[in-house]
Amino acid sequence: MGLLGWVKYSKETRFQVDGMLGSLARKLRIFGFDTAYQSDSVDDELLKTSKKEHRVLVTSDRELYGRTRKHDIESILITDTIDETNLLFIFKSLDLEYTELSPVFSRCSRCNGSLERADDAGMTVSSEQMRDPRIVFRCVKCQKTYWEGSHWRKLRKTAEIIRLGLEHDKT
Ligand SMILES: [Zn+2]
Repeated sequence: MGLLGWVKYSKETRFQVDGMLGSLARKLRIFGFDTAYQSDSVDDELLKTSKKEHRVLVTSDRELYGRTRKHDIESILITDTIDETNLLFIFKSLDLEYTELSPVFSRCSRCNGSLERADDAGMTVSSEQMRDPRIVFRCVKCQKTYWEGSHWRKLRKTAEIIRLGLEHDKT
């Protein structure tokens, strides 16, 4: 059970995103998924990491997508240019559950590190406290800081689009 009770979170799914899809990779991290991404990645490396670390390879390259099939690597071919559409497609393809967005569940969009509360990493945070804009989260790897500002409100809209998309599918 998640922090908010109703949140069922499929964090086990890990991704490897190809170099063309940086914006999508950042969003997957913000959604809390362990997402490997480098802008200068080479196809052979992507295939190797995906296979070795059991990551779902997300790519817009048809040729690379074809190679994943041959190597028995789970993969998703991205054909749209809109992140929301692509995220919804990924959630549907892998049967992932919707989650409310919060830095509590997120990973660092820059480096994929986990986030902790900047003031007290060990403290339990209630859902109410989570929405406090004064609470700052920090990446344990690169130290980048996060808080619930306007950026998060935009991201919540993205999450809402996904939630509605997934609900629509069920009815
Ligand atoms: Zn970081």
